[in-house]
Amino acid sequence: MRLTVRTEVDPGKRAPVASYKLVYSRGAMEILCFEMTPFVENCYVVRDSGEALIIDPGEVTTELLDAIKGYTVKTVVNTHCHCDHCGGNAEILQITGAELICHKDELGLLRALPQQGMMFGVPFDPSPEPDRFIKEGDTVSVGNITFGVREAPGHSPGHIVLVGDGFVISGDVLFAGSIGRTDLPGGNYSQLIHSIKTKLFTLPDETVVYNGHGPSTTIGIERRSNPFLVGV
Ligand SMILES: [Zn+2]
Ligand SMILES: [Zn+2]
Repeated sequence: MRLTVRTEVDPGKRAPVASYKLVYSRGAMEILCFEMTPFVENCYVVRDSGEALIIDPGEVTTELLDAIKGYTVKTVVNTHCHCDHCGGNAEILQITGAELICHKDELGLLRALPQQGMMFGVPFDPSPEPDRFIKEGDTVSVGNITFGVREAPGHSPGHIVLVGDGFVISGDVLFAGSIGRTDLPGGNYSQLIHSIKTKLFTLPDETVVYNGHGPSTTIGIERRSNPFLVGV
């Protein structure tokens, strides 16, 4: 299920060396993962039937542009609006003409994108306003693929996850052996635990978790062995 095609680009062209991997494919659908920004954030591109969906563009890299070449990008989604997940919004929206969607409770963070970057000494361009908001129960589509939207606040106030068939794109809610931090503005620890319990741990054990930082995992592995979630 997990393909590890890692493509190193010419190291002379960019610093740091960016790479991406095809993390999932089924039928015509492909999910590509790109490590971005000094925060090593995972941006995902889901391609299906000539369309591409971009999730959490922390920045715009040549690899990202190559991956969407020849595909129609209708939508850019931010799982949440920390700077490492939306820093590339302005540039990618300008290039693709796509609509931007996120949860309305992330608007404060989105509007403070440059200030967030300044806290960490990383410059980010301001993001355009979202074209529309998404909430629990909505769907997001690309080609013939449809994701269900679930609200999973706690790491940030309006964090959403995208549930696909057998996998979930989960932003910074749940990591392999860890959970999202809750010490940033809008974070809430007990809310995060509640979100994981009710929005992620209700998925089947074999569900693959594609998260915002680090390697993918599965719901079953985290249910059994995540030290932050024992007994929840
Ligand atoms: Zn975050
Ligand atoms: Zn992050």
